Amino acid sequence: RQGRLPDEVELPKIRVVVRKRPLNQKADMMESRLVVHEPRVKVDLTKYVEHHAFAFDDVLDEHVSNDAVYRSTVQPLVATIFRTGKATCFAYGQTGSGKTYTMQPLPLRAAADIFEYLGFAEHAELSLWVSCFEIYGGKLFDLLNGRQGLVMREDGKGRVCIVGLKEVEVSRSETIRELVAHANKARSTGSTGVNEESSRSHSIMQSDHPVGKISFVDLAGSERGADTYDNNRQTRMEGAQINKSLLALKECIRALDASAQHVPFRGSKLTEVLRDSFTGDQARTVMIANVSPAATSCEHTLNTLRYADRVK
Ligand code: ADP
Ligand code: MG
Repeated sequence: RQGRLPDEVELPKIRVVVRKRPLNQKADMMESRLVVHEPRVKVDLTKYVEHHAFAFDDVLDEHVSNDAVYRSTVQPLVATIFRTGKATCFAYGQTGSGKTYTMQPLPLRAAADIFEYLGFAEHAELSLWVSCFEIYGGKLFDLLNGRQGLVMREDGKGRVCIVGLKEVEVSRSETIRELVAHANKARSTGSTGVNEESSRSHSIMQSDHPVGKISFVDLAGSERGADTYDNNRQTRMEGAQINKSLLALKECIRALDASAQHVPFRGSKLTEVLRDSFTGDQARTVMIANVSPAATSCEHTLNTLRYADRVK
């Protein structure tokens, strides 16, 4: 087939995009004063009388579609994986802010572009292998294989290998939709209900090629990191793990840009697993910070904006 990869453009190592979800008429009583300014890079939050202003690479308000989110975040990274690169997309934010809503359609859209590129003669021999796992309480579970427990190893060259992780060969992008749905169903669901438990796990979908790698990471609810004061010992421990991993993640992403000699990926299972996505000149990361417009979420929204601001 005719065709070629998009021209190589210099992409920033880190791109930070904020997405504000619409107000949920039933659940959110009052709207916070969270204002997205034109052109969409600035966002203001007024908490009581205090004003907080932030600027990001892009700020997507409640009218922006999932397609437009894809174009602003993942699409520019897709060509990277054919150039021996690592592309990683994170969704960060409190539970209910729209992480899963944002993340779910992205792999499908990315796959459509990847298949387009794979169709080009020089890449025709490559196929797409997809895996999906979650990190819950610092442990790994296979989301495409009955939540089987997994262990991580490192080979001598610092490459990460998850022993026994199921990889599914995908030959058309529609299959991705099924895998995403399957993985989301398989995600930790305790007696307390789906969102409650899945909010304590990081879920990761990856496609690893001989030439590059793309990862989609739906992070644990950022507010869970504060569960360290909970009465329940298990919840407290999980909260501590989440807190640790989100802090380590921030440090690793920051180290990307500084081309630091030392990347503190050993700080958590999450960053250890993603180690090779934080190293090398070709690693590109986009973080989507999801925020809710609800007045009751003001405190968490501010925390999310601060975290996203620190990552830049
Ligand atoms: P999280 O994964 O961060 O806990 P969800 O993705 O489950 O949050 O979103 C919470 C609720 O808000 C869901 O019912 C979801 O459908 C809805 N929602 C989130 N973002 C949007 C959006 N941009 N447009 C419409 N509905 C949204
Ligand atoms: Mg979710």
